[in-house]
Amino acid sequence: MKHRCLLLLCLGALLVSVAACGTGSEESKTSGTTQTSETEAGKKTVEKLESSLYVKKVENLSDDFIMGVDLSSVLAEEASGVKYYNFAGEEQDIFKTLAECGVNTIRVRVWNDPYDAEGHGFGGGNNNIDAAVAIGKRAAAAGLSLLVDFHYSDFWADPGKQMIPRAWKGLKYTEKVDALYQFTKESLEKLKAAGVPVSMVQVGNETNGAMAGYEVWEDIAELMKAGSKAIREVYPEALVAVHFANPEKAGSYQTYASNLNFYGVDYDVFGSSYYPYWHGTLDNLAKTLNEISEKYGKKVMVLETSYAFTGEDTDFSGNTIGDGSAVTKDYPYTVQGQANAVRNVIDTVASLPQGIGVVYWEGAWITVGTNSWEENSAKWEKYGSGWASSYAAVYDPDDAGKYYGGSAVDNQAFFDAAGKPLESLKIFNLVRFGNEVEVRADALEDVTLQFDLNGSIDMPETVSAVMNDDSRQTVPVSWNLTEEDIQKMKSNGPEKYVITGDASGMKATAYVSMIEYNFLKNDSFEDGTVEPWVVNDLAGADQLYVENKGTDSLTGKWHMHFWSEKKNSVEFTLEQSVKDLESGNYKYAISIMGGDAGETEIYAYVKINGEIIAQVPLEITFYGSWDTAQIPSFAYEAGQELSVGIYVKCSGAGNGAWGKIDDAMLNKASE
Ligand code: CA
Repeated sequence: MKHRCLLLLCLGALLVSVAACGTGSEESKTSGTTQTSETEAGKKTVEKLESSLYVKKVENLSDDFIMGVDLSSVLAEEASGVKYYNFAGEEQDIFKTLAECGVNTIRVRVWNDPYDAEGHGFGGGNNNIDAAVAIGKRAAAAGLSLLVDFHYSDFWADPGKQMIPRAWKGLKYTEKVDALYQFTKESLEKLKAAGVPVSMVQVGNETNGAMAGYEVWEDIAELMKAGSKAIREVYPEALVAVHFANPEKAGSYQTYASNLNFYGVDYDVFGSSYYPYWHGTLDNLAKTLNEISEKYGKKVMVLETSYAFTGEDTDFSGNTIGDGSAVTKDYPYTVQGQANAVRNVIDTVASLPQGIGVVYWEGAWITVGTNSWEENSAKWEKYGSGWASSYAAVYDPDDAGKYYGGSAVDNQAFFDAAGKPLESLKIFNLVRFGNEVEVRADALEDVTLQFDLNGSIDMPETVSAVMNDDSRQTVPVSWNLTEEDIQKMKSNGPEKYVITGDASGMKATAYVSMIEYNFLKNDSFEDGTVEPWVVNDLAGADQLYVENKGTDSLTGKWHMHFWSEKKNSVEFTLEQSVKDLESGNYKYAISIMGGDAGETEIYAYVKINGEIIAQVPLEITFYGSWDTAQIPSFAYEAGQELSVGIYVKCSGAGNGAWGKIDDAMLNKASE
């Protein structure tokens, strides 16, 4: 998961510096005993959960299909006072709640050393190996296995950033390879000593052509091989995974897989991030992963995915996606939408012969408070429960050091802001059985409309609803719009309005722009050509063409330009004929500036059936002085031939003339 994209949102926030220290990790209360038999038993006694969610069964789902949730921030969250509940409303160990909902694997990221010299955590859960051990023990106690995600960095590693751990700086390359091997081995040995069952280990996180500061595949591959070797030695039964992001980038995964193969990296699983709003279609994901799986004989899976259950932010720290964010919104931001998003990722991976699982990223990274940014910030700083603390500046001054803050995914968790589980958490259970409840509207699609100020405002009678089964249906809508409102909108000039309504008991929203519709095409010459205007050059001007020069345009970059040196060499018309207009009153305007002319005869005109029926004179004087002609109203009947234009004739004083024409408008006029 990337963090850079949300950071601009918190630029305006102030920081309250807190001079407290402490790590986010806490020793768990549960025992670290490995409960393999219970894990096995748990898998066999899966019972379908009761739910109001619509869920279509996923076929070909094996009993051991990995249903994972990344819970890396959980200890810091709990240290910050966050409480998690079960569906009965009782406070309950979150690992147990996840297990009850069909989750069988917990993923945890490991940073080499996410602390400054004084022991202040960098945030993001302050996840060093000790935090991973504590999380692993909690997971084991709930019968869940652990997926360890080594970033090989002191803080976030992703496609934009793969910084080397501070302790490895200054080492020779071969020493770094050895350091990575030792770090992996010692970390895993700590987990082993604590009795944590580890089912998979990642060598690197979203290593799109870089890892631990290296960007050449030969180097990356050697580092990966060292990590893989350590994993095989400590946890021989665990799968070794590589992890990449951006499956939508054509050919990139094939390149990674080919390099891994060429350099002989020993791994079992080719894993991908898949965030539906960034990473292309599921069909593309399936095709890409399957190609690699077939060509190299590897297992494939989604190591990170997530989706929003609400568009709202609850922790005062901007979110990755949400209301108003410009991303592909394939599902509504509802609990059902979130469940459908996850269901479809599971369905896609399960459909692949070598597809082994899906992990949801940070399913519990909810707000640490509901009062203020300042209160939350104090906790993020003290416990590392935000994406970054100010202390991270010593390692990552340009990003974390500037934009540190809270959770960017509190609206993508499986728990609400109060720690109550959402129905969508049950998706890991329900995909095995299906739960085809009655189809009903789950969300409404917003409507965007434009109305002509001089036309009528005809609001649609239906809106499109996203149903709980992810289909679309139109449903009747009633808009909150009185005749009085309509009159105001028509008389208020060009303006934007948000109009709400009711459909299927939900709030419908229409974004309405009241505009003066321009019936002319290429009205400001921004097409970069003259068409469909027609130029009739009557005196052989030296220059007469559409020109790209913003400083000489009234609006935009382009305008119609003329210049001629000789006396009496400027005479032309610029005209556009307009088709398919309905009967009514219209107005026409066009603008010009220019100079160096003697006598001029310039006018804007309207021609009906070949006859000029209205004209208004224009003048050119000096540079920058635009003159606009307005023909305020003329009547037109459908079927008549209509054209509008400008006539320009300059003569006299020895010179020719120059000029610029721009912004022609043919609008409806009030009756
Ligand atoms: Ca947030």
